[in-house]
Amino acid sequence: MSPYRGRFAPSPTGRIHLGTARTALVAWLRARASGGAFVLRLEDLDRPRVVPGAAAALSADLRWLGLDWDEGPDVGGRFAPYVQSERTERYRAALMTLRDRGHVYPCTCSRKEIAEIASAPHDGAGPLYPGTCRAGPTRPERPAAFRFALDEPPRFVDVGKGPSPPGLGAGDFVVARADGGLSYQLAVVVDDAAMRITEVVRGDDLFDSTPQQLALYRALDLEAPSFLHVPLVLGPDGARLAKRHGAVSIHELRERGHEPSELVGWLAHGLGLVDAGTRATPASLVARAQDVTFSGPPLRLEPDALMTPFGSSGHE
Ligand code: GLU
Repeated sequence: MSPYRGRFAPSPTGRIHLGTARTALVAWLRARASGGAFVLRLEDLDRPRVVPGAAAALSADLRWLGLDWDEGPDVGGRFAPYVQSERTERYRAALMTLRDRGHVYPCTCSRKEIAEIASAPHDGAGPLYPGTCRAGPTRPERPAAFRFALDEPPRFVDVGKGPSPPGLGAGDFVVARADGGLSYQLAVVVDDAAMRITEVVRGDDLFDSTPQQLALYRALDLEAPSFLHVPLVLGPDGARLAKRHGAVSIHELRERGHEPSELVGWLAHGLGLVDAGTRATPASLVARAQDVTFSGPPLRLEPDALMTPFGSSGHE
């Protein structure tokens, strides 16, 4: 078996919050507990969402928590560059391979048209594409996207959650937009394969996109890693943790006077690694993280915990 190589692949779209930090901690612990390498990669292809300065800020927040990486934008490494916007020629080459092999077809449908014609709603991921352009672009005068023809979404066994349900990820999906932008699905596959990642650890919100990525690995003749999806951190209302839930970014919590050991201890408690109220450094958790797959239900923040998550007087 190849030596473990893990990665954390955030998008520099803002400050990292407790949910992102939890995923980063799990990814880091999986790598360190396996004696493997840990890679930081910035996924900045979605240009309008990229926030200037966010890349440096997220590295600083991760380091403040006690996490480190062997390869990444600031430290380099043998698979550099580690920033997606500097790797676009690789994604274009993969797109050409997919096209030459007949896996993708030009699609000129607009989002609105798809929503109108699609019959079944599709797991919150937008409507299932009905295959309109498979026989040829219906509006050849428009610029075309490239869509992957996915007849049978591959199934997989998540390291934490077990087998994926049948039909997950079904539907032809976009790998390059009509404006020339390349999709996350394509970029993440090209990069994880090129960087020899053996296990992908990421948030549960990306569980549904794994079959599409596995289809790309197959179509490109690339070896797929295993996948571990980490349950999300939810706000008190049960929705995915967000700014509106209060001071949940690592930076804000730091500004409020919290120590990294409190935050890491709180995260580790949520992962079942330590008792409540224990302070911890990431390094102190490595031995306990051996063979832990970090599955389980999402972690919900209690309303009070949001203001005073670590027992200090955070109320103003
Ligand atoms: N860049 C993605 C995000 O920040 C994560 C992608 C991945 O880990 O596969 O949500």
